[in-house]
Amino acid sequence: MNKTPYYQAVGKEIEVFEKSYENRLPFLLKGPTGTGKSRFIEYMAHKLNTKFFTVACHEETSATDLIGRYIIKGGETQWLDGPLTRAVKEGGIIYLDEIAEARPDVIVAIHPLTDHRRELYIDKLGETIKAHENFMLVASFNPGYQKGFKELKPSTKQRFIALSFKYPEKETEIKILINETGVDKEIAKKLVNVGEKIRNLTEMGLTETASTRLLVDAAKLIHSGLPKRLSVEVAIIEPLTDDLEIIEALKDLANLMI
Ligand code: ADP
Repeated sequence: MNKTPYYQAVGKEIEVFEKSYENRLPFLLKGPTGTGKSRFIEYMAHKLNTKFFTVACHEETSATDLIGRYIIKGGETQWLDGPLTRAVKEGGIIYLDEIAEARPDVIVAIHPLTDHRRELYIDKLGETIKAHENFMLVASFNPGYQKGFKELKPSTKQRFIALSFKYPEKETEIKILINETGVDKEIAKKLVNVGEKIRNLTEMGLTETASTRLLVDAAKLIHSGLPKRLSVEVAIIEPLTDDLEIIEALKDLANLMI
């Protein structure tokens, strides 16, 4: 069996998820990118010893991609189950990452799976299948306070247990950087301080801010021997903005701290 993924708890999320899993309640992970949502769900699937299916949703993702389609193989048409159908049949956790990005028919398709019916309608086969007793639907969603992200209807959200993921407390984030990359505590502390500083610069109008993921990336580069300031520049600052003035301002700021 694969190694359990490393996950540092930041609140009561493990307990909340375990109880939700016991009841097979659909679960929504809310929060900006890079806050550990995917890592958390991989960890939980491992801890609960369930099968794990994952779909990264984007604007072209349709119900067909999830449910299945006919393919031509050796001159014959063959039905191929999509990941949602497989999870419904085999049992396990399916993680629909960034569900709000997908086409509206995806939301329609999951509705009967998120209430007492726990069933999936496969329109191309004219079949309705009952979900396996171990089936659980999990989705993630980046709330719409940022430009360019789609909303999720309240009537859809209310079908889920929902938990917000935020940037971790300082000490927790330092622990994550050390465990994840092997970097020493001093460096981890400095990177977390840089992250915190950038997160507080709301006036820069950044659509996304310095996530734990970016700090982890910078720590990895530093641990591999790349100079600290250069690591911060390419792993944290450049991915955040293309505005040259802001890049210079953030570099000046980070250089003072690193
Ligand atoms: P999201 O799914 O929210 O976009 P990820 O789960 O991909 O974010 O997290 C990005 C990276 O940040 C992970 O690969 C991991 O290195 C790190 N990370 C963030 N939060 C945690 C955490 N609580 N425990 C362990 N690693 C974390």
